[in-house]
Amino acid sequence: MTTEELARGTSRTRGDDRFVFHSWSAQGAISPLPVAGGAGAWFWDEDDNRYLDFASQLVNLNLGHQHPRLVAAIQAQAARLATVGPTFANDVRGELARLVTERAPGEAARPVSGPGADDRRWRVFFTNGGADAVENAVRLARLHTGRATVLAAYRSYHGNTTTAISLTGDPRRWPNEVAPDPHVRHFLGPYAYRSAFGARDDAEEGERALAHLREVVQLEGPGNVAAILLETIVGTNGVLIPPDGYLAGVRALCDEHGILLVTDEVMVGFGRVGEWFAVDRWGVVPDLVVFAKGVNSGYVPLGGVVIGEHVARTFDDRVFPGGLTYSGHPLACAVGVESIRVFEDDQILERVRRLGADLIGPRLREIADRHPSVGEVRGLGFFWAIELVRDQGTREPLVPFNASGPAAAPMAAVVAAIKERGVWPFVHFNRLHVAPPLVTSAADLEHGLAAIDAALDVADDHVGT
Ligand code: PLP
Repeated sequence: MTTEELARGTSRTRGDDRFVFHSWSAQGAISPLPVAGGAGAWFWDEDDNRYLDFASQLVNLNLGHQHPRLVAAIQAQAARLATVGPTFANDVRGELARLVTERAPGEAARPVSGPGADDRRWRVFFTNGGADAVENAVRLARLHTGRATVLAAYRSYHGNTTTAISLTGDPRRWPNEVAPDPHVRHFLGPYAYRSAFGARDDAEEGERALAHLREVVQLEGPGNVAAILLETIVGTNGVLIPPDGYLAGVRALCDEHGILLVTDEVMVGFGRVGEWFAVDRWGVVPDLVVFAKGVNSGYVPLGGVVIGEHVARTFDDRVFPGGLTYSGHPLACAVGVESIRVFEDDQILERVRRLGADLIGPRLREIADRHPSVGEVRGLGFFWAIELVRDQGTREPLVPFNASGPAAAPMAAVVAAIKERGVWPFVHFNRLHVAPPLVTSAADLEHGLAAIDAALDVADDHVGT
């Protein structure tokens, strides 16, 4: 097939079904939609069916498809210096590291002049994506503390490399347990709607989840624990927003025992909930922050670890035993730099906070009031979950945990009904997530939410069955 034929995008198969080995799939059981193009919050397939991207692909496309400024930044950098090894210094890599560190947790409170204004507090180690960023954050924490154990939450996702999948607290870990990282332990984070602690409200859930974590630390031996890793807001496993005080409590627990706090901001960083880093909502400063996805909307693969200076200093005289050929790739960094400029020029963080609070949240609550299949809606900014149930009283999920095949059919029917209306949702177990690009217009948000509203009649049919 010639480049021209590829550009025209005429064939449905074009090798995908025969030659591409896809993620997380039984290869014979899938039929991926052939996507031909996209613009802003929309993409379309080869038959010109258009979809409003309510999943931002995999919750990475924060500035939407084909943003002209991001595309131009890649083109300009490709013309200037398309690649360079990680052992060299490079201007766009340095500039992105500066921009990220200036927006790191707690930096907004830094004095603009006087004592401390110019102190360096953070550095950035760039990776190719989220999993290897998690992997390297854990490596930094272990080498810095000289301890091995890392605690991570059930109901979490941290990536698919060996340590990252071992840290993951969802069923994607199970088949990978044939060769896990042996020093990972799991704990239960707060989830008020399905409290494992018998809590009656968010505040009680936060307190009890913290007491549980404290106990896990005691039982594992505080002197053995290198790090506590958590998603600031749990993403794929439920858009679980930590109760006020929980993250501050984890920070205090870490401080008590010399444990590093590592927050995974791969899904929620860079504007998803109207903050550069979601942890800023609670005023907590971690030791290490993992990012990827939204940093450059995934136009070129990029992730990284924002490293507190006290950890980075461990490696002033000692070799950091890690590296990647494409660490800080100039194409990825150039689009990261431009992305941050677009965020500022177009006031994206403010937009996300405003439309989340004034449009998405209220509209979803109306939907919840109308449909007996909606157990709870929760979220912030442009990141929401609709939890579907068979019974609002018992909270029995519409489909069982980890359901597949016929057991998952009710969710599949809801998803099909949404797609029929030209909206592409994010779905996980019994939940629909609303995670559109942060540039989605108010009219398109209304359109997508109306499609979900209409499609939920399909879920209502299962209530009480
Ligand atoms: N951490 C979180 C919270 C994620 O949501 C993901 C991916 O979805 C990852 C880590 C892994 O990122 P990647 O797929 O870029 O390796």
